[in-house]
Amino acid sequence: MYKNLILLGSTGSIGTQSLDVVRKYGINVVALSAHRNIKLLEEQIKEFKPEYICITDIETANNFEEKAKELGVQLFKGSEGTQKLAQLEGYGDVVVLNAIVGIAGLKATLAAIESGKDVALANKESLVTGGKLVMEAVQRNNVKLLPVDSEHSAIFQCLQDKNSAPSLKKILLTASGGPFFGYTTQQLEQVTKEQALKHPNWSMGSKITIDSATLMNKGLELIEAVWLFDVKPEDIQIVVHRQSIIHSMVEYSDNSVIAQLGTPDMRIPIQYSLTYPQRMESSAAGLDFFTVKDFTFAPADDDTFLCLKAAKEAIAKGGLYPCAVNGANERAVELFLNDKISFLDIGKAVYGVLDRFEFGEEYTIEDVFNADKLAREYVDSIFNI
Ligand code: NDP
Ligand code: MG
Repeated sequence: MYKNLILLGSTGSIGTQSLDVVRKYGINVVALSAHRNIKLLEEQIKEFKPEYICITDIETANNFEEKAKELGVQLFKGSEGTQKLAQLEGYGDVVVLNAIVGIAGLKATLAAIESGKDVALANKESLVTGGKLVMEAVQRNNVKLLPVDSEHSAIFQCLQDKNSAPSLKKILLTASGGPFFGYTTQQLEQVTKEQALKHPNWSMGSKITIDSATLMNKGLELIEAVWLFDVKPEDIQIVVHRQSIIHSMVEYSDNSVIAQLGTPDMRIPIQYSLTYPQRMESSAAGLDFFTVKDFTFAPADDDTFLCLKAAKEAIAKGGLYPCAVNGANERAVELFLNDKISFLDIGKAVYGVLDRFEFGEEYTIEDVFNADKLAREYVDSIFNI
């Protein structure tokens, strides 16, 4: 188990659940970051006594300056601040858990890796937008990239047998299907923000909850898995499993399928990323098979859920296409949450961005942020914003 933790995005859904694990095992919290929720951040500072914090929203950070002095904690500001936290030196056995939402987490992931630290990654957008840069940095710096996303943690756990791992045939990436599983396009025309924000099995931040309803989340996870496990997109099959008990599976060349199961509680994969390769007692409930009534499997409908189709095509095209669909999605979800566009408009925007721009295979970090900007501008242009 890591002794020291730098937790980015500590006020979010993953952040707070990570602190539950920290509380249980007494891991030392070196640093915390938040964007605007200073009320919760202040409580966290008082309980976990970090030496450093970062507030990424500059105005909020300026307003917190006096308070930070009073609390005896050093304050960094802005997104550069999260990179500084990720690069803090002098904490031998340390991991950076990145639970920031969106491409806003990418530079901190890279900064942590470049400073030689292991990273527990919840921020899947780091791999979706800059997968090549992240994986090259992991290789170069010889650090561990530990998945926090439940499906990727499951796959990672299923691949632990190093003797079988080379004979991996395919990955079965499970999906809950979200609140609108089985809906037709016509039915999706009527759905509201409130309905989209109600996930059947998981309680998560609002952006990923919408991504789960559009199936963009599964598209992002497909791309995340391609990078993390070095497999081709065609070797990953998406399987809708409504109950979210199987968190994903792998199939080996002898047709044996290995699965990881558990109650849908993110504290299990979060904890595994912090205690790996050890397994320790968890606060999450155990799985009682006799209460599991149904156990179902179905294909995902990417003709209706255009975001998933767009993500699949983007990873097949390679280069910065995944970054562009991610940027279009981040902007479209923001507009949807602000009641500016409809649910189906998200899919239209994300699919529409695919043939708008030409990207090559190679890219730099500047190219990533430029592609993200172009994609967001494209979304604004089609909705006249
Ligand atoms: P939340 O929205 O609940 O939390 C996001 C965190 O990031 C908060 O601490 C927030 O601060 C901070 N943040 C928001 N905007 C910025 C920004 N521009 N720059 C820096 N920090 C920012 O998200 P989740 O916890 O649900 O998700 C976090 C990541 O984990 C996402 O990438 C998601 O896809 C992934 N994930 C989440 C799962 C879940 O169960 N929630 C499951 C698997 C993966 P503040 O609160 O102050 O606004
Ligand atoms: Mg997931």
